Amino acid sequence: MNIVDMYESYLTKIIIALIGVFVVLLIASIIFVLAFRKKKCPKCGRKIDKDSNYCKYCGEKV
Ligand SMILES: [Zn+2]
Repeated sequence: MNIVDMYESYLTKIIIALIGVFVVLLIASIIFVLAFRKKKCPKCGRKIDKDSNYCKYCGEKV
């Protein structure tokens, strides 16, 4: 194995590791968004819990 082959296999490992980290971060962010998804109040536009029936900031029914 010459120095170019070593360099290329090193680069390949780095690229695979970066893709792995990216995929893990992507999946984690999708899970986070799904778990903490919130809806917007139609009156004041603030983010409120998706399970609540009233806006906790202005009292608007949502
Ligand atoms: Zn509101």
